[in-house]
Amino acid sequence: MKSLRELYKIGRGPSSSHTIGPERACLKFEALAEGAASFKAVLFGSLAKTGRGHCTDKVIERTFTKPVEVVFDCDTPVDHPNTMDLYAYDAEGKEIRNCRVLSIGGGAIVMEGVPFDKPAEVYPHNSFEEIKNYCDSEGIGLPEYVVRFEGEDIRAYLGEIWDAMQNSVYEGLLKEGVLPGGLMYERKAKTLFDQNIENEEPEDRENRLVCAYAYAVSEQNSDGGRVVTAPTCGSCGIVPAVLKYEQLKCEYSREQIIDALATGGIIGNIVKTNASISGAECGCQAECGTACSMAAAAAAQLKGMDLDQIEYAAEVAMEHHLGLTCDPVDGLVQIPCIERNAVAAMRAINAVSLATFLSGSRQISFDAVVYTMYQTGKDMNSIYRETAAGGLASVYSRSRLSKKPKTPAGE
Ligand code: SF4
Repeated sequence: MKSLRELYKIGRGPSSSHTIGPERACLKFEALAEGAASFKAVLFGSLAKTGRGHCTDKVIERTFTKPVEVVFDCDTPVDHPNTMDLYAYDAEGKEIRNCRVLSIGGGAIVMEGVPFDKPAEVYPHNSFEEIKNYCDSEGIGLPEYVVRFEGEDIRAYLGEIWDAMQNSVYEGLLKEGVLPGGLMYERKAKTLFDQNIENEEPEDRENRLVCAYAYAVSEQNSDGGRVVTAPTCGSCGIVPAVLKYEQLKCEYSREQIIDALATGGIIGNIVKTNASISGAECGCQAECGTACSMAAAAAAQLKGMDLDQIEYAAEVAMEHHLGLTCDPVDGLVQIPCIERNAVAAMRAINAVSLATFLSGSRQISFDAVVYTMYQTGKDMNSIYRETAAGGLASVYSRSRLSKKPKTPAGE
């Protein structure tokens, strides 16, 4: 597995595969295209179908320092759902370089035929079972495991990640107004947080605060703000919401939060290595499902649970996201994404509760559920994989026009 630095990245939303990945590719391509006077970017698959809603064209135009034409090709079939072709031209308009780019999720990219700094494999293990066996034999927990293979300075990096996560919570809680994109989506985090409810039950207050933090980060993401991929931009509200809530409630130290980010990071890394964290590849189960597992494992770490309980929490969190589709209305990372982050954050806390009582009785391993998620994602119709062509995305458009969504049978 690769470093947690490849998983947790700080960047601008709203989509790691549609904004952070293309931005990195354009920067690299321009640096390689010596003498280029102009560029062209052709977007395919999900990048073409939801690129406008995800601001991919704006990111490309902002990143290249020379004029660039952005083409949305929704028809040509491609092997990878997030594919982009880049072309560089000289002053006479003659093509001098081209490159196919795959944006593979979480801001990671593959540039075909271009020498690229391929991230090193820093961990010798790839599955939870291998990692657990190693930790048990060495008598260490996951935070120590991370330091052993990444070096002590990974803790400083995770501290920066925590600072960025907290900033996105604080900034999002202060903002009001309508998010860009045309859906007229009103920010809700501040309203949720500010509510002063007399005789509010403790569990209602917990749900309200966890949701307020998740909304805050997700709304920042949708507004193009700086967030942390955990594991992606679309699912970036879940881990910070759970950690912020637990930290304030139980006064966990910064070092304990860093331990939790290390444990959650290992969970995200296992999914990224063995399956996918890309909504375009495997639907929202790969994004919000993975984030929920990461948050559950991180919270279990904070509560001092053992490796079995951490695994159970992560497994439960993913298992009940299996089959979850990606169907962003108008291709924007707003509906259902923002609310889904809040629901997944609450679900992560529930998964930890179950792990507290039931971990000895579980029958499904985390590795098994990750494998299942990947197979389910491969079987999923492409209209449910970040193409904004099915699910809520199609029903919402119709209801807006006709006020009456059609039933599948056309009744
Ligand atoms: S539905 Fe899920 S996977 Fe799809 S864009 Fe929204 S958060 Fe990302």
